[in-house]
Amino acid sequence: MFPPGCEVCLRGRKLVLFVTGICDRSCYYCPLSESRKGLDVIYADEVLVKNDLDIILEARAIDAEGTGITGGDPILKLGRTLRYIKLLKGFFGKEHHIHLYTNGRHINREVLSRLSDAGLDELRFHPERGDWEKIKIAKELGIFSGGEVPAIPGDEKSIKEFVMFLDNIKADFLNINQLEFCPQNAYQLKQRGFTLDSESMAAVLKSKESALATIDWAEKEGIRIPIHYCSSVVKDAVQTKKRLIKRGDNVARPYEKVSEEGLLSKLIVSSECSSLREMKALLAKKLRLPPYMIGVSSDGKVVEAPEELILEIKRALPGSKISYIEEYPTATRERFTEYPC
Ligand code: SF4
Repeated sequence: MFPPGCEVCLRGRKLVLFVTGICDRSCYYCPLSESRKGLDVIYADEVLVKNDLDIILEARAIDAEGTGITGGDPILKLGRTLRYIKLLKGFFGKEHHIHLYTNGRHINREVLSRLSDAGLDELRFHPERGDWEKIKIAKELGIFSGGEVPAIPGDEKSIKEFVMFLDNIKADFLNINQLEFCPQNAYQLKQRGFTLDSESMAAVLKSKESALATIDWAEKEGIRIPIHYCSSVVKDAVQTKKRLIKRGDNVARPYEKVSEEGLLSKLIVSSECSSLREMKALLAKKLRLPPYMIGVSSDGKVVEAPEELILEIKRALPGSKISYIEEYPTATRERFTEYPC
C-alpha cells in the first residue's frame, strides 16, 4: 500500500507548496534551482506566492486533493508552515491530505506536536543518521511517518541500515527516489563519478538497480515496512502529466486545445498592417466567431485563435504571420513548441 500522500500525487492532484529555499544542510545532489536555493521564497507549483490567495487559486487550478509541503527545510519557517497547513485545511476541509518533507535537523517533540495540532497528516524524513530517532518521536505522537531518500549507487549499505532502523521503530513507509541529474547538481554528481542513464533524460545510471536491489534484500530479510521505488518516469510521465492535463482543462481559454500531454495548443497571428484590436475585430467578423473565440496573448503582442481555423485565417488576413504553438498550462505558460504555418 502506498502512503496516502503518494496516492494523491499519483493522481496528479497534489499541490507542491515550497515554503522556503532555506536549508542548513548541503547535500551534493540537492536539486533546488538557482531561483529557489538558499532564498526565502514561496512557490505553489510554479507560481511565485505573494499572498495566501495565490496558494488557494493554484490549488483550485489543479483541483488539488492534497498538498506536499517542501523546501529547503520547511521547519526553518515553522510559523509559516503551520499557518499554511491551517489555511489549506480550513479552506479545503480536513480531507485535504497534507504531507511534509523535512531533513529532520530542527525537529523535536514540541515541533512535532505543533505540526500534528495544526492538522498535518504525514511526515517524510530525509535525515542524517543523528536525526533518525526523531522519526520514532513522530510515531510516538501518532503521526504517520516514514523516510524518503534518493537511491545513490554504491550507498546501499547506509540505506539498508536506515531500512532496519525504520523497521525496528515500525515506521509507516520508506520511499526510495531515483537519483536524477539537473543543472544544479550535474557538476557535483559528475565529480563523484556518476553518469547519465542513456535510456533516460535525467536518471543517474544504476540508481534504479540500487533501489530495486535494496527492495529485494528487504523482502528476503523479512522487513515489514512498505518500501516504494519512485522513478523519474513515474514523476514526469504520470504525476506531472496528470497535473498538467487537469490544470489545462481548468485554465484553457475557449480557443485553446488541451493535448494528451497536457499542453495548450492554438494559433498566434500577427500582421504589420493592423493593430491587434482591429485584427481581433476583423477576424471575429469575417470568421463569424463570438469575440471570446479570438484572444490576445498575455504579453499583448499577438492575436490568438483556434488551430483548426488556419485556412480561414489565411484567407481573411492575407500576408499575416501565423504560427502554431504549444504552451505549458502553468501560471508562467512557458512555450514548448512553435512553428510557422
Ligand atoms: S536537505 Fe533537501 S533542500 Fe536541503 S540540501 Fe539536502 S536535498 Fe537540498
